[in-house]
Amino acid sequence: MAAAWQDVVRDAAAVREAAAVAVDAALLAGVLMRTGEQPHASDVVNYAPFTLLPSAVPRALFEQAYAVQQDFNLLVDTISQNKEFLEQTLASTIKVDDFTARLFRIYMQVLEEGLAQTVFLGINRSDYMFDCGLDGTAALRQIEINTIAASFGGLTSRTADVHRLVLKVLGKTEETSHLLPNNPAKGLALGIAKAWELYGSQRAVVMFLVEDVQRNIFDQRCVENELWNRNIRVVRKRFRDVFEQGSLDASRRLYMDGQEVAVVYYREGYVPQVYDQQNWEARLLLERSRAVKCPDIATQLAGTKKVQQELSQPGTLEKLLPSHPEAVARIRATFAGLYSLDEGEEGDRIAATAIADPDRFVLKPQREGGGNNLYGEELREVLEKIKDSPERTSYILMDKIKPQPALNYLLRAHSPLQVSECISELGIFGVYVRQGQELVLNQAAGHLLRTKAIEHADGGVAAGVAVLDTPYLV
Ligand code: ADP
Ligand code: MG
Repeated sequence: MAAAWQDVVRDAAAVREAAAVAVDAALLAGVLMRTGEQPHASDVVNYAPFTLLPSAVPRALFEQAYAVQQDFNLLVDTISQNKEFLEQTLASTIKVDDFTARLFRIYMQVLEEGLAQTVFLGINRSDYMFDCGLDGTAALRQIEINTIAASFGGLTSRTADVHRLVLKVLGKTEETSHLLPNNPAKGLALGIAKAWELYGSQRAVVMFLVEDVQRNIFDQRCVENELWNRNIRVVRKRFRDVFEQGSLDASRRLYMDGQEVAVVYYREGYVPQVYDQQNWEARLLLERSRAVKCPDIATQLAGTKKVQQELSQPGTLEKLLPSHPEAVARIRATFAGLYSLDEGEEGDRIAATAIADPDRFVLKPQREGGGNNLYGEELREVLEKIKDSPERTSYILMDKIKPQPALNYLLRAHSPLQVSECISELGIFGVYVRQGQELVLNQAAGHLLRTKAIEHADGGVAAGVAVLDTPYLV
């Protein structure tokens, strides 16, 4: 896989020339982020970090990832409607993890009152790495599925053009045919528009629920502008605004200062730090409302690491999707080894194995957004400390995926141009809409490739580790 660019990757002059072209092309194409220094304004912006070269991705695995996306959409949507499964699966977790417990409480409260929402919209991104076997063949392994605020569907649609130009500058015009067109933002907007339409009020708006600090605003604008193109009005609000301006009418329609909201698209709300008491109240108000939440709280819970681990248990998928044996087989084929750390013999055994051989595993808490997992020595230390305490059950263990590295350059503002050994993570966006019991839309909406230097165990573009990339199919 690494062989694709071997002739140019060490050619300093060619690389320097191509990098200069690449950065300007990224700026022209809108691969942009606000800066750390001025995160609240668009007066000064810079390019979002990206690779100089597109990274090789085996075509068969790329196609496998696309082929299983509708199955994952169906699975997530099914879990979100299965109270018994969520209750049982998260029972041990919510005893020790406050954040999950808090979300779960809202979930139960909303169910008790009875759902006002009748249209459901899911936007997720299933992430994979290519595990390199002993014989050198690569296998598709799911890292996780993100059911809330899956990002970079906008910016990633613009990297293929940049990489196409880079290949031409490097004398590789023919190779550009291996780069595919890709526009997740358009697919996500299609789902949002469908949900808006089924909600059935011409005057109602789509509300993007956004962060206080919006460095990644341009990525969101890509989706927003697709909606404006369809003459759907979009507003951007924070939890604080919802607390101050939000209200429900007698039939639990959601209003923001008198403006009806049809769809709430969360790009915030997945980390505990954003929730003070007022923001929790705002979240509850949104969940109780008739508005289409993307995702609703049940779907957010369906994306927890604990649910992912439970899905890998023998028989679980079969029970959840009894009439879809082929979907079950396609889904299972992407799973890595996942292990429960619940109290009991099985948990004791796997904890001991991981302490003895930490490099085989990743230790994951119920958190999103990058930078939370534990690896190697740190994994050993933490697990050693909590192995006999109930706190252990707030984590899961996962087999560590070991992809074959390839050389590339990570282009980052204010950083030197240097070659790195890199590995990539492929994400496929999924979008679906359900009205009552009927799935009226279920699609794969495009892809995202993120690449990082191998010295970083964890990932995330927003976390400052990974950068945007484009798959070069081989
Ligand atoms: P988060 O919700 O924080 O994004 P992830 O499960 O996606 O959590 O893990 C974050 C990053 O850690 C991934 O992007 C990947 O780089 C790395 N990672 C996670 N799980 C594994 C694994 N099983 N093997 C190797 N790397 C992993
Ligand atoms: Mg992730």
